[in-house]
Amino acid sequence: MYIVHISSECAPVAKAGGLGDVVYGLAKRQLSLGNHVEIILPKYNILDHTHIKDFSLEVAELWSFEDAFRYHNSVYKGSVHDLNLYFIEPHHNNYYFHRGVIYGSSDDIEQFLYFCRASLEFLHGAKKHPDIIHIHDWPTAAVSYLAHDIYKEMGFHFGKIVLTIHNLQHQGLCLPKNLTKVGLRGEDYREEKSLQDPQNATCINLLKGGIQYADQITTVSPRYAEEIQTEEFGCGLSHILQDRQKDLTGILNGIDKDMWNPSQDPHIFTKYPDNPTFISQIIENKQKNRKQLLDSLQMQQNSGPLLSCITRLAPQKGLPLILQAIQYSLDRGFSFILIGSVCEHQDKEMFENIRDQYQDTGQLHIHLNFDVSFAHKVYAASDAIVIPSLFEPCGLTQMIGMRYATVPIARKTGGLADTVFDVNDQLVNKEKRTGFTFTEPTKEAVCHTLDRVFHCYKETPMIWQNLMKNGMSQDYSWEKGAFSYQQIYERALQKKPLIKKL
Ligand code: ADP
Repeated sequence: MYIVHISSECAPVAKAGGLGDVVYGLAKRQLSLGNHVEIILPKYNILDHTHIKDFSLEVAELWSFEDAFRYHNSVYKGSVHDLNLYFIEPHHNNYYFHRGVIYGSSDDIEQFLYFCRASLEFLHGAKKHPDIIHIHDWPTAAVSYLAHDIYKEMGFHFGKIVLTIHNLQHQGLCLPKNLTKVGLRGEDYREEKSLQDPQNATCINLLKGGIQYADQITTVSPRYAEEIQTEEFGCGLSHILQDRQKDLTGILNGIDKDMWNPSQDPHIFTKYPDNPTFISQIIENKQKNRKQLLDSLQMQQNSGPLLSCITRLAPQKGLPLILQAIQYSLDRGFSFILIGSVCEHQDKEMFENIRDQYQDTGQLHIHLNFDVSFAHKVYAASDAIVIPSLFEPCGLTQMIGMRYATVPIARKTGGLADTVFDVNDQLVNKEKRTGFTFTEPTKEAVCHTLDRVFHCYKETPMIWQNLMKNGMSQDYSWEKGAFSYQQIYERALQKKPLIKKL
């Protein structure tokens, strides 16, 4: 099958969160199953070139459009572990994708809409005819309606379009004129049955359009697929998703087994087996990682568990609950490391304050940045990872944690509920119990759970060891997930052609 992913992220060259890991891990597995797989990305000025091989100019003259103007683009090609990636570089007078960040610029909408159109222009111009175009979240949702309503009529042949919703909260709200800029008459799409935002009638909702135009829709865990059809988690689109219930599937994300592997991780101090039968060596080497990391950060060594949290500091992640977990652990004499990429100024201040408050204790390290290498070190050195999300489409940090024998402490929501089972959960086999969970998004629930964590670590080390072993034994690779996506693609290909909405 010929699959083209059009995406705003792909690890390790352009990653802001889980979406990047997922596109890379899934595409890599799809390639190894014998598919022809390509990925199209914007050529950000912050691409991490260290991982790209054979980077070269593929198309010097790609013309695309915005408003009444034609814009010149260059397309580069490179490979990452045998995966072919194309990078579109717009020569646009607003310097699109030269922002030093992937998201968060005031013109994100314009940049990604432009990218969607240029990607299709590239595929069409290069006479590529993918069986499946796989798009991801709002930044590339517009590919679905641009492909159907413009490029199909221009003779561009493609099979079907699959949209994956990695996070429903971000939907790409804009004005009709933004659509008009890339060649669709925006006002025509501002209809209830079309792309009009359900909450704000003056706005276009780019993700809603993707949900309506895609042949199949997936989201990143079975639990989240159910949740987003409810008013509570549907972010205003629950009824649109209910309408497409038959075409909506939750497929649990995997993690890339090579990228996240303690036995060959180039970032960590001391490698250790990725096989739970060698638990004594795992424990010994985890201790070494922990000692080396704490020394390097000038933190105190102590006999309690080292807790960590590796996250975007977005409200979704339960910021007051993270703060509570930090404070509660430190007040009981334990250590905590937080790596947080910051979104809002006031959140940054909150975490800087707690850092100042505990700076002389040697128990706390807060790193307010996105730092992949440091994250690997922290996964390897920590005993437990705290994930108190208010909602979590899938979550990868619990799976990565388990792969590194780091016990997850998670709130039971979305993909966390599908992957982390409490040490005392009688409803699942003992081998599936991998961590500590709680349901209520409250500080009390966090503290109560941490009490159980501290007690288990200190008083029942064999149970703790079992949690480590169980976590490492779970298969969260892409094997199963990639197979499920293949089935979704087959289902999409069997569908009747989409009838144009307008
Ligand atoms: P989300 O996609 O909502 O950010 P996920 O748990 O699905 O959350 O995926 C997060 C991914 O990003 C993981 O690979 C995690 O290790 C990584 N990550 C998150 N925050 C940071 C950070 N501050 N520095 C480095 N890596 C991070």
